[in-house]
Amino acid sequence: MDKIKKLILFRIPMSICNFRCHYCYLAQRDEHYQGIQPEMKFTPEQVRKAMSKERLGGPAYMNFCADGETLLVTNLDQYVKELVEEGHYAEIVSNMTINPMLDKILAWDRALLSHIEFKCSFHYLELKKKNLLNRFAENVNRAWEAGASVNIEVTPSDELIPYIDELKSFSMEHFGALPHLTIARDDRTAGIDYLTNLSIEEYDKVWSQFDSGFWKFKKSIFGIHQGDYCYAGLWSMYIDLTTGEALPCYCGHLLHNAFEHPEKPLDWCPVGKCPIAHCYNGHALLTLGTIPGATEVRYGDIRDRERADGTHWLQPELKAFFNTKLEESNETISNGKKLEYKLKNAWLAGCTIPSRAVAKVKRTMNKKE
Ligand code: SF4
Ligand code: SF4
Repeated sequence: MDKIKKLILFRIPMSICNFRCHYCYLAQRDEHYQGIQPEMKFTPEQVRKAMSKERLGGPAYMNFCADGETLLVTNLDQYVKELVEEGHYAEIVSNMTINPMLDKILAWDRALLSHIEFKCSFHYLELKKKNLLNRFAENVNRAWEAGASVNIEVTPSDELIPYIDELKSFSMEHFGALPHLTIARDDRTAGIDYLTNLSIEEYDKVWSQFDSGFWKFKKSIFGIHQGDYCYAGLWSMYIDLTTGEALPCYCGHLLHNAFEHPEKPLDWCPVGKCPIAHCYNGHALLTLGTIPGATEVRYGDIRDRERADGTHWLQPELKAFFNTKLEESNETISNGKKLEYKLKNAWLAGCTIPSRAVAKVKRTMNKKE
């Protein structure tokens, strides 16, 4: 059985989307919904070579998420295919309405699809408004029947509350179970708060009816700073798929370019002390084990649902892989090594500060011109 060796999050700075969800984090940014396809500096073959199992030390969980709709990224299928053929496991975040790209992926062999999970974002109000509910359901079921895993996830929002009953009926009818829930967050706040006007008591009362283990785990870590030593940066990377620039996770210092010089070892460096308020994507980072011992909860378990007929949203091989932890297949490091990495982090901070300062000066100069 494959065990996770590394956790790789691919960021794709492409903000095209066919939806306009009111809670979208993209709408909170200045560059929202630009119709620009990113320039990919490395080919799918080059990315595969840079992310080979040999270079990573074994199979990785890889998450593909664009700023906009992931399946609208030109050639996304070619990148995912190369990496899955290499033996990695892919999670693709999608609103599941982009048939041309989906058709290409679902035409692959079952063996390849058994390494793929679609994180199907169930944007009920947008789907209803655009009359695409049936297309969403058909695509989710097509993906599962082709051999891929699926996970249906709703973003709880105050506006969705009047529609909860019909959403639940639709889910039971088409997906055999209730959807999981994520937590809508307000990235504009310093504490990365809940995006709701309800009190926390009201919020819990409304959304607990979905009995989502995924949501329960997210709530259990929401707002809690992770104080133990974090191996993000040594066991994980957050890589810009278009350039190869790598961070340890959603925070930490710029490491190096992960796609350049695939003949050399990757230059890892753990974060150690988490610098942000809370690990808001800890549903994956923590359950997959970036902080040893942080939780007994396993990623496959909280992504899955069992239908009334006994079948599961996650296919067995992928679920077993998602239920392994980084701490089980990587060695922890000594205090001496931690000190060494602390100095390296300080050095990396020193390296990035001047370039940010230069960028700031350039921006100021441009404004004056
Ligand atoms: S589908 Fe995703 S990217 Fe598009 S508007 Fe909705 S939340 Fe934003
Ligand atoms: S706790 Fe989470 S956000 Fe913080 S460094 Fe670790 S993985 Fe990154």
